[in-house]
Amino acid sequence: MRNDILYEVHNGIYVNLTNRCPCACVFCLRNTTDKVGRSDRLWLDKEPTVEEVKAEFALRNMDKYEEVVFCGFGEPTERLDALKEIAAFVKERYHKPIRINTNGLGDLVNGRRIAPELAGLIDVVSISLNTPSEERYMQEVRPKFGAGSYAALLSFAKDCTKYVPKVVLSTVATTLTADEEASCAEIARSIGAVYRIRPFE
Ligand code: SF4
Repeated sequence: MRNDILYEVHNGIYVNLTNRCPCACVFCLRNTTDKVGRSDRLWLDKEPTVEEVKAEFALRNMDKYEEVVFCGFGEPTERLDALKEIAAFVKERYHKPIRINTNGLGDLVNGRRIAPELAGLIDVVSISLNTPSEERYMQEVRPKFGAGSYAALLSFAKDCTKYVPKVVLSTVATTLTADEEASCAEIARSIGAVYRIRPFE
């Protein structure tokens, strides 16, 4: 069983599809560690094929897990086609809720609106908002797409509310002031998303 393709975090089983990411966050865990949760090393020698991921699921007792999460050491929407194929497989075979943890830039990554493609496959989209300020977002997340990235994140989030049962905008505890968190909560409310402050890890 390889703990670099699938790995456990709390009660979930996480999928590590890619190390590609269009961002270079100053706080990225990849800068300081090689693994998260019960993984061995999340740096991939090569991206797993869909069949390889399915084979890894077959090695697990899936009854143990409450949800399947596309996350890992990269941006899952960089491999949208594989993600959708695996999500469909998981839904049909294991009947588990499926979440994507994303930087929210999947529309820019794929060059099209991707939220409609998540309908019926994904139960929760959790998007790292990080900050209510576009200026600070650009300084800290440093997306390769440059100006317009923050707006694209918000547009994707709003789009997701039409196609996915639950959309979460998250920030990390201790990184924002109370006023900034209130602004993030208002942004989430205005687009029909849930605001969540994740614990600092
Ligand atoms: S979006 Fe996530 S994986 Fe990409 S650089 Fe930022 S923290 Fe790291």
